Amino acid sequence: MEEIILKRLDLARTLFRHHGDHLREALFPDLNRYQQAIEQTNRALFSTGISQICASCPEEDGLTCCGTGLERHVEVSILLLNLLLGVKLPCKREDPNGCFFLGTKGCKILARPIICRNHLCLRIKEKIPLNEIIRFQNAWGEEAELTYLLSERIKGLPFYHQG
Ligand code: SF4
Ligand code: SF4
Repeated sequence: MEEIILKRLDLARTLFRHHGDHLREALFPDLNRYQQAIEQTNRALFSTGISQICASCPEEDGLTCCGTGLERHVEVSILLLNLLLGVKLPCKREDPNGCFFLGTKGCKILARPIICRNHLCLRIKEKIPLNEIIRFQNAWGEEAELTYLLSERIKGLPFYHQG
């Protein structure tokens, strides 16, 4: 898996170097909407208390849901979205038992696969009332839709498959 994600990172950096401006143009203005949608999700994660539960998760039982191997969901299109959002992508895995993108303060990337944002474990379902979970899911809807749409638009650009 290490080799696969390192190859994807290489490819994303190369494509960004050659086509970054074109990509930015092609995704305008939805890229700005996407950034705002991510912020909206983050606010909902905080105001519902979900992010606080996740932050204390590794301390409670040494577990986190960002385990090794989950980086397989981070496609080149998602890496490109991160580069467009100004994220500095990591060059190596920090936690041998964690996802390639996991750091000491949590996930290092802003644009994340849908599966990462939609994972609500039993602990969260037990601690957060259902109406608050629904509120979070409603707030996350726009980000989820844009993650999919922007990613598909990037994959549809001619240079994507020439890399
Ligand atoms: S979703 Fe659950 S398992 Fe994952 S970090 Fe949050 S509390 Fe921990
Ligand atoms: S949220 Fe980030 S660190 Fe966690 S599995 Fe997804 S990409 Fe990896």
